[in-house]
Formats: sequence, structure tokens, C-alpha cells
Amino acid sequence: MSKRLLATGMAAAALVALHAGPSVTALPTVRRPLRALSGVGRPGTVALTLDDGPDPRSTPAFLRTLARLRIPATFFVLGDMAAKAPGLLRRIREDGHEIGVHGWTHRDHLRMTPSRVYDEVARTADLILDTCGVPPLWFRPPYGVLSAGSLLAAARLGLRPVLWSAWGRDWEADATPDTVLSHLRSGGIRGGATLLLHDSDCAAAPGAWRSALGALTAVAGECERQGLRFARMSNHIP
Ligand SMILES: [Zn+2]
Repeated sequence: MSKRLLATGMAAAALVALHAGPSVTALPTVRRPLRALSGVGRPGTVALTLDDGPDPRSTPAFLRTLARLRIPATFFVLGDMAAKAPGLLRRIREDGHEIGVHGWTHRDHLRMTPSRVYDEVARTADLILDTCGVPPLWFRPPYGVLSAGSLLAAARLGLRPVLWSAWGRDWEADATPDTVLSHLRSGGIRGGATLLLHDSDCAAAPGAWRSALGALTAVAGECERQGLRFARMSNHIP
């Protein structure tokens, strides 16, 4: 069994452990991958993750704001969006951000056969490699739904599954920068956090991305006050 497969197998065990109660999750061998899967990284860093792009209508605005705030982020992209905007996908990488796999379409993996899940994840990983010249290392399925098929596909492709520790609920129709900030604070804007926002509204209320974009300056300020550094996923979770 490869190291990656073993790690993913442990993540699956950790998911089971989640339902088995604290006595099992207290075991260090189970707790560590569970923490990584739920986006808990190094204590001095915060990972900003942006899902559902790249979207020519909104992603360029995020890239401009991230450059101004000097935030390295991680984009979990959809293959069907990236195939329509390969230049934008390349630009994300050239701007110094990391690119992970979200899926080819934004469909719940529990509603797809394992072979279809594998095909979609593999196709997206291939597109990222072909377009950017760098293989993706991370995988976050649509809706954060990790089916057995998702975990198997990730293991076969050498991708590490990761979810998040705080979300902004920026996909909601009535989301504003203030509500996004408030939801992120509820989950915890602190060392080790992985924050989930979206740089596209392709799976959200129309224009919802503006609430996420509008919250970025305040999020950056909050991290600065705490002496935290933003890190790409691969620098956030060892
Ligand atoms: Zn998504």
C-alpha cells in the first residue's frame, strides 16, 4: 500500500471514528489525519480556499484583491469551468496561488457511481497538469461530500482530501461581507484555520461571490492583528 493510499485510508478511518465518539478520536494515529482532513493546519498560518472557479466574471477581481492584500490562496477548481477559461487557470498559478481539484461538475459524489467520480476527478487533475504544468496535490469534493468513491479516487490519483474549519456561507442570496465575516468568526479565524469561500457563483445565488470578495480585507486585517500568516494548502498542512 502506498503512503498516500495509507494516509487516505486513515482519513477514511478517521471519518468512521468521527461517529464512533471521542474515545477513538483521542488516539493520536487517528486524530492527526482527522485534523488534516478537517483543514486544521500549522498553528501560525491560515489557509484561504476559494471553490467553484475559475470564473471570468469574478475570479479576476479576487486575483486583484489577493495581490493587493498579499494573500497566497488555494483555488479548488471545477474542470468544466477551467476548460472554458484555461488562461485564467494559468494566471491563478502564475499569481502564486495553489490549485486543487474540486470536481469536473458540481455534482454530489454520493449521486454518482465510483467509476464516474474517478473519471471526473482524474479528468480535472489532468486538465490542471496540462494547463499549468504542475500536478494538483489536494482534493475537496463538491459540498464537502466525501463518498467512498471520492476517497478511493483521491487515493488512486495521489490527491489529499481536505475540507475546511470555517466557512462564510457566502453562497446564500442574502450574504453580505458582514455576514460572511461573522460566519467565518463563528468557525474560527485563528491559527491553523482553513477558511472556505467561493470565487464563482456557478453553484450559488447569482452575484453571491461579491459578499466573499467584500469580506477579504477584513479577514486579512483580523489575521494580521493575530500575527498570523496566510499560506497555500501545501504550506499550511504538512
Ligand atoms: Zn463547490
